[in-house]
Amino acid sequence: MFQDEKSKMIKDQLIGRGIKDAKVLKAMSSTPREEFVRERDKLVSYADTPLSIGWGQTISQPYIVAYMLEILDISKEHVVLEIGTGSGYEAAILSRLAKEVVTIEIVEDLYKEAKNRLENMGYKNIEVIKGDGYRGYEKKAPYYRIILSAAPTDIPEALVDQLALGGKLIAPIGGLFQDLVLIEKDESGKIFKERLLPVRFVPMVRE
Ligand code: SAH
Repeated sequence: MFQDEKSKMIKDQLIGRGIKDAKVLKAMSSTPREEFVRERDKLVSYADTPLSIGWGQTISQPYIVAYMLEILDISKEHVVLEIGTGSGYEAAILSRLAKEVVTIEIVEDLYKEAKNRLENMGYKNIEVIKGDGYRGYEKKAPYYRIILSAAPTDIPEALVDQLALGGKLIAPIGGLFQDLVLIEKDESGKIFKERLLPVRFVPMVRE
């Protein structure tokens, strides 16, 4: 089921708009988006939009997920930190690219739902944490890659601290108007920032 919808999404929304990274395309081809949306949205799970997952939150649009993952250039040696587990969809894709995924969700119900879903689906290298993404997760730091699925108004300091030397962090930053920003930490600890494109994500909330 949904094989045709998925292939069409990969071809039109991803390859058609310039996503080239074979690893990203493969990881997204192997991840059943229909399992991460609400029952009533299953038929539109591969549509070119974010979809509501309840509690005022959304599962991101496939293209924006692919775009961020391509830029992060994740390898099997990387431990990746994700802020904003939501449905668990992006964490599932990350788990196919990375060695290990640590993902933090602040809404208790979404945390429980995503944790159960990912466990039932058999994902082994994902640790779902209930917590506040502004603080990161010191226990497994440093992270070679960090990805934010909710927008803070400023780059959270704790996350930059938990980024490994040579690491990359991608995040939507802003309020009503946001930019996707790439932060790189070089081997000496120096920070470089680059604005990539205007985006609209749900805001990152405080506990
Ligand atoms: N990556 C998700 C998309 C999630 S939408 C997916 O693939 O489905 C953004 C998520 O960030 C929401 O679930 C929201 O509850 C969560 N969030 C918002 N503020 C947060 C914070 N301070 N810490 C952790 N999670 C947060």
